Amino acid sequence: MTKTFKLAVIPGDGIGKEVIAAGMKVLSYLEEQSNDKFKFESDYFDWGSDYYIEHGSMIPEDGVETLKDYDAIYFGAVGDPRVPDHVSLWGLRIAICQGLDQWANIRPVEFLPGVQHRIAHPDPESLNWILVRENSEGEYSGIGGRNFSARPDEREVAIQSSIFTEYGCERIIRFAFDLARTRKRKKVTSVTKSNAQQYGMVLWDEVFERVSKEYPDVETDQWLVDAMAAQFVLNPESLEVVVASNLFADILSDLGSALAGSLGIASSANLQVDKRFPSMFESVHGSAPDIAGKGVANPIGTIASAALMLEDLGLHEEASNLHEAIRRTTAQGIITRDIGGTSNTEEITNAIIENLTL
Ligand code: ATP
Ligand code: MG
Repeated sequence: MTKTFKLAVIPGDGIGKEVIAAGMKVLSYLEEQSNDKFKFESDYFDWGSDYYIEHGSMIPEDGVETLKDYDAIYFGAVGDPRVPDHVSLWGLRIAICQGLDQWANIRPVEFLPGVQHRIAHPDPESLNWILVRENSEGEYSGIGGRNFSARPDEREVAIQSSIFTEYGCERIIRFAFDLARTRKRKKVTSVTKSNAQQYGMVLWDEVFERVSKEYPDVETDQWLVDAMAAQFVLNPESLEVVVASNLFADILSDLGSALAGSLGIASSANLQVDKRFPSMFESVHGSAPDIAGKGVANPIGTIASAALMLEDLGLHEEASNLHEAIRRTTAQGIITRDIGGTSNTEEITNAIIENLTL
């Protein structure tokens, strides 16, 4: 019997449209090859900055509700020079992540063969760690305001509050430990800044220490975020599963992907771990207006995110084949400019498809 998966496809802005087209081409190929094992029923949504210019909002009022009917969401990128970044980000990506309670964002940091890495390490391809980002609260709680004039000179004061709940900390930390148990090396590194952020991050640390006692088989360590940034560069073999708050994990994931070569290869999944609603799969990079429309964007981050989606849908073999096809393609030197090559988006996509047939 054919299994049907309903996909909501949101290409979004800039290169989002190009890399999603690449990812969908790969998914269609896999579907064709599956001998009716599965098929995708894809609906496209034109939400994003063009939609905003026309309608005054990034998505329709019932947009998030509409997405609840799908098995997965495949997302391009958001960002446009005509729309303030905080408007587009909150109006689309964060609206979906928070609206569908996709509370765990995972971002693998992988050193692909044949790619110009930016790390001084004798064997970069042996490195492989995964960032677990708290995706529902923390610094992205959206609590605060502007136009206070508490200063004697009456100039503006803005307040931006972070919210850390014991519930939120515990579920993401537990998720990181469970994930560590599925990996060869069982280790979780927790990252905070609890010397300076004395309420929320101290709570996080306490929850981490409590939960860690339930996982005696998992090795742990705890770092301040500034020192952790240095560890990424100086001691990357010490990393396995790294769990951090919404903001810190976001920053560390850009660092990780830059070390691995480029933002263009970094994949991510916003998981609704409890499976009440669909999860969302997207590359880590943004809309890259500087290269949009030129056909040169690196599609690997978005195609690797499709592999994470296949995994989440239970198509484990297809996920691992796709992952392998990406590695073969980069090993053959078929790579974009951002990682030291000359190929364009289409050439890479076709090469990945060809490598899937092997
Ligand atoms: P946004 O506002 O949407 O976040 P941005 O320009 O701030 O856009 P990114 O889109 O993440 O941030 O891009 C940062 C830099 O990395 C840009 O110079 C961009 O060209 C480059 N880049 C990002 N993604 C890719 C990609 N897939 N392929 C090639 N280069 C990329
Ligand atoms: Mg950006």
